[in-house]
Amino acid sequence: MRRSIKAPRCERFRFLKSQFIEECKSSKKESITVDKRSYRVVIKSVICDPSARSFVRQIIPHTGKYGCELCVQRGIKNHAMSYHVRDSKLRNNSDFRKQTNQPHHEGISTFTQLNIGMVYGFPLDYMHLICIGVMKRLLLLWRGEKNTVCASSRKRKSKNKETKKTLDRVHRLTLDQLNTISARKAAVSKQFTSEFNRKRRGLN
Ligand SMILES: [Zn+2]
Repeated sequence: MRRSIKAPRCERFRFLKSQFIEECKSSKKESITVDKRSYRVVIKSVICDPSARSFVRQIIPHTGKYGCELCVQRGIKNHAMSYHVRDSKLRNNSDFRKQTNQPHHEGISTFTQLNIGMVYGFPLDYMHLICIGVMKRLLLLWRGEKNTVCASSRKRKSKNKETKKTLDRVHRLTLDQLNTISARKAAVSKQFTSEFNRKRRGLN
């Protein structure tokens, strides 16, 4: 499911309440016939970005104190919201539906009408975490860009600028290496289907 969260709020609610949810319910009862073969539709997971994920599940955003989607710990705000406890109690489908961790919820999600896991049925999305998250940061670091670290680590690193400069030189890719990666990216980009609307760019 892909739906822009920039649409007007009432339109978004109408889509989720009357159209999408009803369609899911009916497609579960009746199978779909394609080329004389019938298929049963089962929704295993819903893929969306963090803002849309909190909206469709009616939970507080990931910047909130109880915003962690996987466990019940209270976050600590220090520049950005962070969650430090590693063995905190995990959320599960039953607790989510009963809203046992009340501060995590903002309302009742229409998705609870469907037989879908309300925690693991909405996985953290690969594109934002890996492709334009960790991978982007690594590429910037290898290219020798500044501001590739968060504010707190920047403070710590500024104490030892010489060490940082040396490390930067060690990890930085040469112009030849950058050109090779850019050429390979350009070659691969021809194979992408039109569904990938993000533009492919070189590294230099
Ligand atoms: Zn957590």
